[in-house]
Amino acid sequence: TQQAIRFAFDNSYRRLPDHFHARIRPTPVTAPGLIKLNAALFEELGLDPAATDPEVAALLFAGNRLPDGGDPIAMAYAGHQFGNFVPQLGDGRAILLGEVVDRAGQRRDIQLKGSGQTPFSRSGDGRAALGPVLREYILAEAMHALGIPTTRALAAVTTGEPVYRETILPGAILTRIASSHIRVGTFQYFGSRGDTEAVRHLADHVIARHYPEAAETDSPYLALIEAVLERQAALIAAWMHVGFIHGVMNTDNMAISGETIDYGPCAFMDAYDPATVFSSIDRGGRYAYGNQPGIAQWNLARFAETLLPLIDGASDAAIQQATDLIRGFFGRYEEHWTAGMRRKLGLATAEPDDVDLIHGLLDAMKTSGADFTLTFRHLCDAAADPRADSGVRDLFVDRQAYEAWAAQWRTRLDRDPQTPAERAEGMRRANPAVIPRNHRVEQALNAAVEQSDFGPFEAILRVLERPYEDRPDLAGYTEPPQEEERVLKTFCGT
Ligand code: AMP
Ligand code: MG
Ligand code: MG
Repeated sequence: TQQAIRFAFDNSYRRLPDHFHARIRPTPVTAPGLIKLNAALFEELGLDPAATDPEVAALLFAGNRLPDGGDPIAMAYAGHQFGNFVPQLGDGRAILLGEVVDRAGQRRDIQLKGSGQTPFSRSGDGRAALGPVLREYILAEAMHALGIPTTRALAAVTTGEPVYRETILPGAILTRIASSHIRVGTFQYFGSRGDTEAVRHLADHVIARHYPEAAETDSPYLALIEAVLERQAALIAAWMHVGFIHGVMNTDNMAISGETIDYGPCAFMDAYDPATVFSSIDRGGRYAYGNQPGIAQWNLARFAETLLPLIDGASDAAIQQATDLIRGFFGRYEEHWTAGMRRKLGLATAEPDDVDLIHGLLDAMKTSGADFTLTFRHLCDAAADPRADSGVRDLFVDRQAYEAWAAQWRTRLDRDPQTPAERAEGMRRANPAVIPRNHRVEQALNAAVEQSDFGPFEAILRVLERPYEDRPDLAGYTEPPQEEERVLKTFCGT
């Protein structure tokens, strides 16, 4: 029996003061067509995918039909874009339908992205093109499968309407699920207006929603800075461990929850090089792979600044405490990074020289242009059996550099308690066999956009569902691009 889609909405952000948001309905589209419904996530939200009529789903996720209890809003926020402060950005093409508490008791935002103009659209059309919608769907679900905190993709629909960019493209809408859409830029929106009461209101909302333990401390707002910093340190380390490059780490694209958000020109690195940049708009390389930890710290400093008036009236002591916390970011980041790199190298124990060992490998990889994902995955085989290391060695132009490093690694492994089999198994859980290779993502998007063929999109989604397992259907998805397949530039999520 077909059921209506009934979300059990409880819209806490909507209940915040009026200047936090604008009430706005999605603009209906001509011809909604359901591309994809994420059945597993749909169930998490308390709904039954099997009992859902695809036409009803298309109408709902296109914004043509408002779900019962939805009270849609566009959220106000500001942000530093490439270092320049913009006092008003806001949801210019996204609309928050509402929040639901999922089966696990977790509050989740349901947002349509590409659902028409809002009071924050400025000159934008409020729409999204099919390619970027599918890119966000693929990348967000891949990150989730990799075990990295992220917003999720619940549905994608076509609109039947063109969007006008440099060329005319098919329009689409993504339904995004997030533990919230509150950003560093949301705090900046109120902070830059000197609206301390609003900052307090927002901070209290965030503490109750994401960091309730901060409320129990002597200084909840300092504790909030520390908690957000800790989650970002863990998040950025997780990105670095899989070679993920966000591409637009503006303060409006950093979620307070610690989830990866706003997949625009993001991509995974093939050959290891910290200077790697894909985004066509990142000409200075501000958001290059290796810059991500430093940028995260810079963004967190902007976040902390907004909270200072709440901490002992921004006294010298408060400023000093907040500064110390921000300075501590690198220590927290390094701890997460080193722990993860030890897992990637199969080290169950910690020795001070491990950091040098890790950097030794990365340096050799950079010199040889070794593929990041394959190096670590093949290293799992080399850990299982020292005679099985030709796979990893062959990735290095400078084989001797690999051999020299591997000799040090083996000496270190001799002091590690695990058996080779245990170690290899643990390493296979830390080193994915497959990532969303940029050229394969691009092929899936092109097939959809140019031929309305969603087969490659479905196929890559399936491949990325269990990235730590070797399976026959991975063939063609694990290899780096051939020279002619290489995608050098990715474009902003417009
Ligand atoms: P983004 O680059 O997606 O992080 O977006 C930066 C800002 O531009 C946000 O305020 C967006 O809502 C807004 N924006 C991006 N694309 C559009 C569009 N097509 N129409 C209206 N606003 C947009
Ligand atoms: Mg309002
Ligand atoms: Mg954004």
